[in-house]
Amino acid sequence: MSKRINFGKLIEKQLPPELVNFMWVAGEMANSRGEKVYLVGGVVRDLLMEQANFDLDLVVEGNAIELAQQLKLNQGKITTHPRFNTAKLQWNDRSVDLATARSETYEKPGALPAVTPSSIDNDLSRRDFTINAMAIRLNPGYYGKLVDPHGGRDDLQSQRIRILHEKSFTDDATRIWRALRYEQRLGFHLEKKTSSLLQRDIPMLATISADRTRYEMECICKEKYPEKVFNRAGELGVLAALHPSLKGNGGLAEKFEHARKECSPEPPSFDLYLALLAYPLTAEETEQLISRLNLPKLSAKTLRDTIAVKNKMRSLSTPGVSPGAIYNLLRDFSPAALEANSLVTESAVAGQAIHLFLNRLKDVQVLLTGDDLIQMGIAPGPRIKEMLALLHQAKLNGKIATRHDEEEIIKGWVAQKQGGTTPPS
Ligand code: ATP
Repeated sequence: MSKRINFGKLIEKQLPPELVNFMWVAGEMANSRGEKVYLVGGVVRDLLMEQANFDLDLVVEGNAIELAQQLKLNQGKITTHPRFNTAKLQWNDRSVDLATARSETYEKPGALPAVTPSSIDNDLSRRDFTINAMAIRLNPGYYGKLVDPHGGRDDLQSQRIRILHEKSFTDDATRIWRALRYEQRLGFHLEKKTSSLLQRDIPMLATISADRTRYEMECICKEKYPEKVFNRAGELGVLAALHPSLKGNGGLAEKFEHARKECSPEPPSFDLYLALLAYPLTAEETEQLISRLNLPKLSAKTLRDTIAVKNKMRSLSTPGVSPGAIYNLLRDFSPAALEANSLVTESAVAGQAIHLFLNRLKDVQVLLTGDDLIQMGIAPGPRIKEMLALLHQAKLNGKIATRHDEEEIIKGWVAQKQGGTTPPS
């Protein structure tokens, strides 16, 4: 049995006074409108776990947009979505989502649900897991009252991820990814029946659109330890449903950890994590993954570049390879693809070459322009481009550094030409 908790006190203890005050005002305003308002979802779960989460989600039995308009602070911004009956309030660095309580029906598996305004109970019944299906009422007189129709609090205490009904994963198979994400983030376990339904419904992942699948991957990559989710997804056969050649074990955890160290204090980008995950795939398999996730152009380029750079690793591993040659080998590829290869390669020489490129060579620029060269006596034409490229190579290889050095080289070439010889090529 769960012990008695004063949830009003819990809110005051854990949330900043500004948000506590906001919720009081929301409760009073909803009351004056004859509506009920609740704090719901992840923030309630995290309040009970005493973990910081300031992303407030409110549900209104009534009209969320009108309530939000009344609540809008003088300096705040409001964004509304009348089709979904939702509103977002933003002020300073705060953001609060308000939604009208709704029930959902799924016409076919994986489709987005049809939505109708409803009660808080129905709103909680459409949610993914019991631990996310709790609400705290905010109206005066009921402030702090927990609404927990599915036993979310007991599941929190028993550290269980449990779906609300047998068809949950069939209705929306993104919940399979979500289940693994919460399980690994919170260090919980899948409740027995949930676990067997999850495994039964793995084929339903095929009903999820590419964009929704990509969104789930992005959410996983925002976790503190995405490798835990991929590892678990590998164990259960969920990762294979994304692509049969993906592996969540082996050296993945070590590579992700290494990526975090390299990128610190920023977290690694989605593209970098994905390039590391997709590293073992062939070019053809990579194309299949790109289309399964409908990756935007830049992310798709990163995956393709990762393979292209992999094919250059032998040349890059040659001891004594010049900076100019490194530049020519790597110039066309996305930084995340280069970073991924430097994290995976066993060749210290190649790793250093990539870092030299990323930290210095990619930014080396010639200071003189084509016009400068013409003014210095070089005839306009394709030769100008060639000479700028020669200057660039000389600069990459450390033979020249300043604008003065560049001018001296050009003057030398002009003099050679006047003396009847042609500049080096
Ligand atoms: P997080 O859990 O990542 O800290 P959150 O709990 O706010 O954040 P969101 O993904 O923002 O999670 O979703 C908000 C709430 O909406 C969830 O707590 C859950 O109740 C519900 N929800 C989100 N996605 C689904 C889904 N696919 N099926 C059912 N309910 C969902």
